[in-house]
Amino acid sequence: MSWFKRDKPDSQKASPENGGRRVKTEGLWQKCDACRQIIWKKELETNWNICTKCGHHFRIDAPTRLRLLLDGGEYESFDRDLHSIDPLGFVDKQPYRDKLRSSERDTGLNAALISAAGALDGRAVQMCVMDPKFIGGSMASVEGEIIARAVERAMERETPLIIVSASGGMRMQEGAISLMQMAKISAALMRLDEAGLPYISVLTDPTTGGVTASYGMLGDINIAEPGALIGFAGPRVIEQTIRQKLPEGFQRSEFLVKHGMLDAVVPRLEMKPYLSKALRFFAA
Ligand SMILES: [Zn+2]
Repeated sequence: MSWFKRDKPDSQKASPENGGRRVKTEGLWQKCDACRQIIWKKELETNWNICTKCGHHFRIDAPTRLRLLLDGGEYESFDRDLHSIDPLGFVDKQPYRDKLRSSERDTGLNAALISAAGALDGRAVQMCVMDPKFIGGSMASVEGEIIARAVERAMERETPLIIVSASGGMRMQEGAISLMQMAKISAALMRLDEAGLPYISVLTDPTTGGVTASYGMLGDINIAEPGALIGFAGPRVIEQTIRQKLPEGFQRSEFLVKHGMLDAVVPRLEMKPYLSKALRFFAA
């Protein structure tokens, strides 16, 4: 699956002007989903995947996110040796086992998230960052276990926990075992709460399904990036169920803040100072 739509600029097409030769520019340019302008990809990358023309937030992978949020981009990562064992022997278009191996190869990750310990403005934190490139950032047995362990580590080390979500929800290739993770993580977060340690949930585009229905909305504060799609069921399913047209901007961060579902919309480049301020507040 490609996360970024690429339109070929004219220079890339074979034409009489370029002697019928194709000029290789593939991957250098990208069209913005929001303002439809063509942006130089390098420029987009140096701006943390935010459109330089309109401020649209493109998705970013977990390593980039950690580099942005943790001091010096440095962190210790955990549970990199956990791999799903395909408990149901699931096969759809391809065997689930093959899908896992190809995702591991393409992303260099062992699961749809990175669990890290680092410092945020000098304060020790545990941070789990989901990666939408790994099977849509979906949550299954390994992802659930890694987050539960991060919660336990936060309690052992008496640090706050931050989870940055980007997820299509529970991974159905692991059926009920995926669904169980919602309860497992929620129970772990309750213990964190009882220990008096803060948990901040950061929702990014897209956060849907069981992630929204569990730890995504269980933070002491729940904040989101601008324009992020956040919901449980998709808008079409809801419209068919309630037989009503949904309002404009439904399930986007700004709409959810306005209707009391989220605490704040925080732009990507302001996220670190915002988290730092929030952690200072909780510490006091
Ligand atoms: Zn744009």
